[in-house]
This record gives sequence, C-alpha cells and structure tokens, in this order.
Amino acid sequence: MRKTVIAGNWKMNKVMSEAKGFMDEVVKKAPNSNKVEMIVCPPYPFLSTLIKQTEGSNVKVAAQNMHFEENGAFTGEVSPLMLKDLGVTHVILGHSERREYFAETDETVNKKTHAAFNHGLIPIVCVGETLEQREANETMNHVEGQVKEALKGLSEQQIAETIIAYEPIWAIGTGKTASSEEANEVCTHIRNVVKKVTSEEIAEKVIIQYGGSVKPANIDELLSQSDIDGALVGGASLEADSFLQLVEAGT
Ligand code: PEP
Repeated sequence: MRKTVIAGNWKMNKVMSEAKGFMDEVVKKAPNSNKVEMIVCPPYPFLSTLIKQTEGSNVKVAAQNMHFEENGAFTGEVSPLMLKDLGVTHVILGHSERREYFAETDETVNKKTHAAFNHGLIPIVCVGETLEQREANETMNHVEGQVKEALKGLSEQQIAETIIAYEPIWAIGTGKTASSEEANEVCTHIRNVVKKVTSEEIAEKVIIQYGGSVKPANIDELLSQSDIDGALVGGASLEADSFLQLVEAGT
C-alpha cells in the first residue's frame, strides 16, 4: 500500500514572518496519520527556521532545487551536503520552471538525482509535457524519455524511493487541471516505464504525484485514481488552511 504524499512548492513566495506563521499553523493542525506524508518546500532562506519548527512533528521540509556538486566555485548555488546538514529530507528536481528559465536538462536532473541519494535526500523528480507536445500526441514519449533519463544509473532500491511528479506544463499555475483520467493515464504510463527499467515489484512501490492547479476542490478526484499517489502543489499550498485541506484529503 503506497502512502499519499502531498508536497507544497512555495516557489519564490513569502517573507520570513509569513513562512513562520504558516508552519506554526501546519505543525499545530497537521493530522496524525501514517497514510499521508506532508512536505513543505520553501525557498532556501527559510529552510533552517522552518526545520526547527517541525521538530517533533511529522511535517517534512524540502528544497526546491540544488546543485549536484558537494562544494566548489559555483556562485549562488546550494549543495546537497548543505541541505542534508540542515535537516532537509527531500528535494524537488527538474521542475518545469527550472528547465525553462534556468537551463535544467535531463542530464543535470540525472546528476542531481544521484547527488541527492549520495547525500541521503529523496528526490521529487518533475516531468511533464508542453501544450504543443500534448496536441502533437507526444506526451507519452516525452514523459517516458524524461523519466528514463532522470533514473539512469540509479539502483533499484533508489528508484523505489524516488518520487516522480507528473506535471503537465500547460496546467501549472494556469487554473487548468488535467482531468483526473488524463492525469492517471500518464501516471500509469510512468509506472509502466519504471517497471520496464526495473521490475513490477519496484514499480508498485514508486510514489507518483500529479501537479498542475491542484486545489481542495479537485484533490479527492485526483487521489481516487489508481496511479496517483499524491500531489505537488504550487498556488494552493501557500495558505496553511488550503494546504491542510489537501493533506486531509490523503488521510
Ligand atoms: C507546481 O509548482 O509544481 C504547480 C503544480 O503549481 P500550481 O499548483 O500552482 O499549478
């Protein structure tokens, strides 16, 4: 039985007082259920403070990106070693905004998935097609390529622990959600790709999230699908109330 994993990606939002207020409320009201895992992904400057706030709770804190090297002359970058040292548990890799605006490629995502595991971090690997690719019937091929490249060279155990987030780019921040059937179709394909590169046993363990305008009004339907094990949420994760409603749906 796979857990439901709800991750809130704040992107570049909030100042420290807002971040702390959010975490106070979430830690206080988070359901005590072992069916659902809650992950908050704030910008780097808030990581340390928020991690301290989560001590003794079941709320996890993730980074939104990282470099693949441990240290060195990479001005402005943050390394997996630094994240692990702070108490970060997960890291989002290959978000479409990183791919689009910061030249992230399948190759760098793969280097980062290896770096994450080498430092005891769980990667949340984002994949997804553009509207043009969807309209040209390229979704399945494109997503399959992204998944295979991201997982290349990982051990079966590492693949089993990887979280894959299917995020159609046309549904991110647009208010357009893929229908739950459309989303599930691609998530099922992703599970089959994992099965092809490992085994059915491993594929059945992998957590596959959907992301793209997920909100309290559509989370139940998405989570009712056979291959959707959670959500990576942007906009609707910014308010504690709405994040908690999403988490509640997974209990
Ligand atoms: C995201 O940032 O990964 C995302 C899915 O954003 P939103 O929920 O706002 O569409």
